[in-house]
Amino acid sequence: MRTAEGKGAETFQIPGLEEIPVRVVKKRQKNCYLRVRNGEILITAPLRASKEYLASFAAKHEKWIRKQLDAEEKNGRAFLPEAPGEREALRSILGEYIRIWEPVLMVRSMGFRIRNMKSRWGSCNVRTGVQTFNLQLIHYDKECIEYVVVHELAHLRARGHDPVFWGIVEKALPDYKERKKRLQ
Ligand SMILES: [Zn+2]
Repeated sequence: MRTAEGKGAETFQIPGLEEIPVRVVKKRQKNCYLRVRNGEILITAPLRASKEYLASFAAKHEKWIRKQLDAEEKNGRAFLPEAPGEREALRSILGEYIRIWEPVLMVRSMGFRIRNMKSRWGSCNVRTGVQTFNLQLIHYDKECIEYVVVHELAHLRARGHDPVFWGIVEKALPDYKERKKRLQ
């Protein structure tokens, strides 16, 4: 069995899921996000969330967590069922970041779509100027979402993943590697 570890992480047990290691990362954010990775439950939570609150939050999703653990053993990422409002929430976050980054990167987005994708966080059709973003991004913090927006918009300047491309991304977000790692 794996043990939860990591800088700034708290560990505790979730009723009904005592055998599964839990890792909590506190951030300046409003909502709790839950995911399962490498047999661990990962919760990103607002700074003030108590252990009791987080345990009951996770316990409510016990069925989904078990399903995800099983799926992870078989293939990889499973999708959280789409909750009401998620798509709209992601749409507004993406729209906001696109407005912020278009002038900085000197590009123009011709619109974007949101859908569930198995292996990618985003893509950019450089011919049409339209970006596609993975709905699952809503379960990650805004810094990660911002990185994906910058990444896809940067493709309007450089198509491939060559040093020129990464130079554009790094200039925009000097800590992009750390954000990218959190999405893996
Ligand atoms: Zn790319």
